[in-house]
Amino acid sequence: MNRTSLARTLREPSELVAHGLARAADLADLDKVAARYAVAVTPAIAALIDRDDPRDPIARQFIPSSDELAAQPSERPDPIGDDAHSPVAGIVHRYPDRVLFKLVHVCAVYCRFCFRREMVGPGKDSALSEQAYAAALDYIRTHHEIWEVILTGGDPLMLSPRRLAAIMADLAAIDHVRIIRLHTRVPVADPARVSAEMVAALKVEGATSWVALHANHARELIGEARAAVARLIDAGIPMVSQSVLLKGVNDDFAALESLMRTFVECRIKPYYLHHGDLAPGTAHLRTTLAQGQELMRALRGRVSGLCQPDYVLDIPGGAGKSPVGPVYLSPQDSVAGEGEVGKETRYRVTDYCGDVHLYPPA
Ligand code: SF4
Repeated sequence: MNRTSLARTLREPSELVAHGLARAADLADLDKVAARYAVAVTPAIAALIDRDDPRDPIARQFIPSSDELAAQPSERPDPIGDDAHSPVAGIVHRYPDRVLFKLVHVCAVYCRFCFRREMVGPGKDSALSEQAYAAALDYIRTHHEIWEVILTGGDPLMLSPRRLAAIMADLAAIDHVRIIRLHTRVPVADPARVSAEMVAALKVEGATSWVALHANHARELIGEARAAVARLIDAGIPMVSQSVLLKGVNDDFAALESLMRTFVECRIKPYYLHHGDLAPGTAHLRTTLAQGQELMRALRGRVSGLCQPDYVLDIPGGAGKSPVGPVYLSPQDSVAGEGEVGKETRYRVTDYCGDVHLYPPA
């Protein structure tokens, strides 16, 4: 693996070509892609990429591809329907007890499958204005049903520790906000950003902080990234994972198993495995739902319960997240109940080997 270290983040296709991360023959197409969707490859991510492997699973996540120019009719700019549930700028209130709070529109890296790819990047507004921030905070303050605030984006860890500490304090000062969850890729993409100051900023009196780490391949969690995660957890911040099922990255059992085991070894509880969203130009990275279910079935059969994420689909349009199986319990048929007139339902339960058993009515 080529571990040439870069001095800075690469943002132009020509720079990717110069560093052996993209082919010169693709440059014209990649410039078209970059004109629409942001590109950023940090030194930490570049160091993980094997430049000699045309199918490298890390490169596939971050290096733009001409396939992104082919949009499908089913794809949409706001695939999970954030806008339909945004009462004020920066807030998405889709479920009763929690809101998304989108503070910034920039990330350390830009994932080629991102479901917010039309909204994130340096060309977009970089952060909420002071006025918009105050209005969003007011919304949270006046909605007493909000128990959890999820800081997402963009990546909230792109904010300075000082700004983040102030935001955490503002939120924790609201009595009904008990949980503040931060979704981030920074511990992997730029581990040095997870400094002692940053860790201190994430801990706050009056609310419990959780960090959800986005990673899709076990190789993302080596060296400095592991150390960054350990700094957060050692400080008492619990962590969960979120991953996206991606063709050519983690859509085979060995890769998925290794990713989930790696999370657990790093003390990160696997939380969500997202089915790929219908974001524009991402069809080449999506699997089918049937493939996702098959992988989950294999995972259930061979890997500890600690390593099991929920396989979920964000329903296009904004109806929310649903677990999408596989299903292990189904009604069998109706049979005459013993000593009773009438019929009762029995169930078919599938075990981890795929064998089916009958379970009696209660
Ligand atoms: S870090 Fe998250 S928001 Fe940013 S590009 Fe990747 S998936 Fe999108």
